[in-house]
Amino acid sequence: MPLVTSKEMLWAALEGHFAVGAFNANNMEQVQAIIDAAVEEHAPVILQVSQGAIRYAGLNFAAAMVKAAAADADVPVVLHLDHGTDFAQNVRCLRAGFTSLMYDGSKEPFEVNVANTRRIVEIADIVGIPVEAELGRVLQATDGATEEEIEAAKTDPAQAREFVERTGCSSLAVAIGSVHAMKTAEAELDIERLKKLRAAVNIPFVLHGSSGVKEESEVEAIQYGICKINVATMLNQAFTRGLLEAIQEDPENVDPRKWLIKSREAVKEVVRHKIRLFGSSGKVTASGFVSPKTVHRGVHIGGTEE
Ligand SMILES: [Zn+2]
Repeated sequence: MPLVTSKEMLWAALEGHFAVGAFNANNMEQVQAIIDAAVEEHAPVILQVSQGAIRYAGLNFAAAMVKAAAADADVPVVLHLDHGTDFAQNVRCLRAGFTSLMYDGSKEPFEVNVANTRRIVEIADIVGIPVEAELGRVLQATDGATEEEIEAAKTDPAQAREFVERTGCSSLAVAIGSVHAMKTAEAELDIERLKKLRAAVNIPFVLHGSSGVKEESEVEAIQYGICKINVATMLNQAFTRGLLEAIQEDPENVDPRKWLIKSREAVKEVVRHKIRLFGSSGKVTASGFVSPKTVHRGVHIGGTEE
């Protein structure tokens, strides 16, 4: 089916107490693995490309791959920009047919983050495309984030309320203890902070850096409004592990397809596992979409409400 936007999907997840997996892809095999797993699990899915993926594959090529895969799938698929760094990148992705955007102004001062997010929401709203924003900061493992730094970067509930009211963003990436690009799942999420954020703000929340979070902690967070969970590092690990094993098994082979099939299978199994863990398996109904009754409209607070 054609691509859908993330707005209705995430509100259905919020009401249904599940999370939609948002899986990063950089190449054809990863796109196919993610879509195949979602189709087999009858799960809605978000396929996201980062700035790095756009540099690697090219914007139009990345968008075309996801559109082609979605067209053949009988589950709703969203094409999402992960960590859009500026206004121009978001506009380019809108033009390329993305059905969900992100502006990450978390490194900027609060007022700059508000102004930039608001500007992108205004243009995306014209064509009905939702925008994810980030407040607080999900740090990078490669920067060697300390416990104190992770704590200081967490999202403040009162500030989050003001941010959402002033920007009209559709969903919010919250910093509650996860760190990007961790290679092992050992972090516990700050559920108490998440509860306070949920009490302050009534829009879908997004968890970044999930590869480094204990699975029981992820599942608990879904009960308090985490509706989209980003998975990237774990998929790259699976892809590379599958490739290395395939090469070791048959080092004389010269046909890359024989190796890449193993990579694709390895990614698909991780996606399937996460879809089941997040509770999104089986959420696509016979009518082809997630619980249509739970669709919400006009969720903008204090913005361009009709
Ligand atoms: Zn992220």
